[in-house]
Amino acid sequence: MTTPWGLPDFDDHEAVHFFTDHKSGLKAIIAVHSTHLGPAAGGARFWHYAKDEEALVDALRLSRGMSYKNAMAGLPLGGGKSVILADEERTKSPELLHAFGKEVDKLGGRYITAEDVGMSVTDMIEVARSTGFVAGLPNSAGDVGGDPGPHTALGVFLGIKAAVKWALGKDSLNGLHIALQGAGSVATGVALHACAEGARLSIADIDHAKAKKLADRAGGKVVSPEEILSIEADVLSPCALGAILDESTIPDLKVPVVAGAANNQLATPEDGERLLARQILYAPDYVINAGGIINVCTEYLGDGDASLVRHRIEGIPRRLEQIWAEGSETGTDPASVADAMAQRLIGRA
Ligand code: NAD
Repeated sequence: MTTPWGLPDFDDHEAVHFFTDHKSGLKAIIAVHSTHLGPAAGGARFWHYAKDEEALVDALRLSRGMSYKNAMAGLPLGGGKSVILADEERTKSPELLHAFGKEVDKLGGRYITAEDVGMSVTDMIEVARSTGFVAGLPNSAGDVGGDPGPHTALGVFLGIKAAVKWALGKDSLNGLHIALQGAGSVATGVALHACAEGARLSIADIDHAKAKKLADRAGGKVVSPEEILSIEADVLSPCALGAILDESTIPDLKVPVVAGAANNQLATPEDGERLLARQILYAPDYVINAGGIINVCTEYLGDGDASLVRHRIEGIPRRLEQIWAEGSETGTDPASVADAMAQRLIGRA
């Protein structure tokens, strides 16, 4: 495997840990980007990568994104992320999750894990059998905790509304067309909120059955994964995987707003400028999708209740507006404005 130092996404990460456990089949990377503001927090992704290097790049990019996300959300947390390299069949066993938990534990609290793509609340219960440095665990009624997905979805929905207000001057999503990429946990919440407000949805997922199920439930139309990035709509909401906005996809976009949950939507920093050049308003991903980590942080630190979580999530639109305002004053794209703000907060300006 390539060393982290040689990769463009290596950003003076404080540590990158590689683990294998032959008995359980665990192969994982934990990247700790920064602990400047507190322990490095960020979910565990369980994914099959064609090449090991892709997993490393994902861990580097996602952990840096968590530093920025936690800082911009005003949380006392640094940024980290783990990836578990799944086999082609995505075999996941309790033994593998325990082995992962043991490795998290060995870091002594420098890294706190939770759910990300491919990991569920049930998986976190298994991980928690080997470590206390875990959040996203089930909660009893009224308590903070559990699946971060619905909290992320609420923040994304509020962020979409703020973007629509900023770019189109509309106070409601009623009658607007939203192109939703992905039909997973966060996309489901976004779809339900948006439909409740009268939005029209086009939904795509590489898993057609999931897209169909969500479209039936929320009242949208299924489109193919190939189509979703180029259909005419008011908002494109990327809620699948990252690096989907690049020099080949941006020229085809037919939307005035891109606002969604997926981490690392821009393939390169230049893609933020490409969106600005096309006058497409972009909601920086790690700002709009902070609802889940806000819930995770409040659960882990035990410093608030459900109403405080909601109050913190309701702060997301205000942060987005600050970014867009600074961007329009300086002629800078929102992603670069957000990066500069986050870098100042984590002492890396
Ligand atoms: P999920 O695994 O529940 O859903 C992701 C969905 O995307 C899956 O249904 C998958 O089949 C689909 N998908 C993958 N590639 C696709 C493609 N090319 N086209 C269409 N669909 C595709 O994951 P999730 O928890 O809903 O997270 C979605 C995104 O939001 C991820 O990028 C994640 O990192 C990010 N995010 C999630 C949270 C959270 O709280 N879950 C928080 C912050 C950010």
